[in-house]
Amino acid sequence: MSDDLLNAQNDLARALVEARLLLPSGVPGLFGRGTVLEDVIERIDALVVRTAEGDGARAERWRFPPILPRALLEKSEYLSAMPQLAGSVHAFDGTVQDHQKLLARVHGGEDYGDLQKQTDVALVPAACYPVYPIVASDGPLREGGRLVDVFSYCFRHEPSPDPARLQSFRMHEYVRIAPDADDARAFRDGWIDRGLLLLRGLGLAAERAPANDPFFGRAGKLLAVNQRDQELKFELVCPITSAEKPTALASANYHQDHFGSLFGIKNADGTTAHTACVGFGVERVAIALFKTHGIDVAAWPVDVRARLWAP
Ligand code: AMP
Ligand code: ZN
Repeated sequence: MSDDLLNAQNDLARALVEARLLLPSGVPGLFGRGTVLEDVIERIDALVVRTAEGDGARAERWRFPPILPRALLEKSEYLSAMPQLAGSVHAFDGTVQDHQKLLARVHGGEDYGDLQKQTDVALVPAACYPVYPIVASDGPLREGGRLVDVFSYCFRHEPSPDPARLQSFRMHEYVRIAPDADDARAFRDGWIDRGLLLLRGLGLAAERAPANDPFFGRAGKLLAVNQRDQELKFELVCPITSAEKPTALASANYHQDHFGSLFGIKNADGTTAHTACVGFGVERVAIALFKTHGIDVAAWPVDVRARLWAP
């Protein structure tokens, strides 16, 4: 990372912490949120929800905890695609003697990972993952497909000095389970336009950019090239700490029949469903606003304030 970028990230983090917008924990990428930041985030989220009303078909609103069955993470192939970002939950499950060992290590500041056992749960990497097995278990996809609204804390192991790159953040997603490719792609494309309007309406210099997920390793390079070639992922990006490398505030993804096949989501005629999702990182949108319009919300442009604080 260049010194300029690191300085910009440190400066922004310091300003956000000094203004009590971010409440630091001492661990990179792990913050609490102060009153004003949380208020702005809630208002951004309300705007996302208002924008989603344009979908006509009312979305089913499902809420999941920020952990999911480990088997689901495995089945979804997340561990082949992005093992470096995944987090799993471990817990102590030993004898009294093991406990003594554990405490000795804790007090000695030593690693005690081997004294904990992998549990059946892992941390949610993206808000949409818990949706697919439920839709599959409901049986053949109803005519016209389904639309699900999910909002969840997500975990990604990517500790960074960048205050816009968090280890734990919230993602509001709309997940389209469509009967076919055209429908899923059209949903995704419609959200690119609406998402851009939403972000630009807040005075953000948002642009649409073809993107790929940070797939792991050599095989991952191929997956990334394929994702770009097939135009499966777009991000809505905006400069936060770098003009050359703007930050993704939202992504709009077409998964083809990836989840449909893995989880067995079928249409009534036996063909496999296609899926798409759009996800807004609400902390990131808020941080982009503070970076663009300044730390003092009272001094933000009148139209931006009006849009966020609309009755
Ligand atoms: P993705 O699934 O990677 O396309 O992420 C969807 C959205 O979640 C991104 O566009 C960001 O707004 C947000 N996001 C992803 N990773 C992070 C992170 N480490 N910190 C904060 N927000 C994130
Ligand atoms: Zn998703």
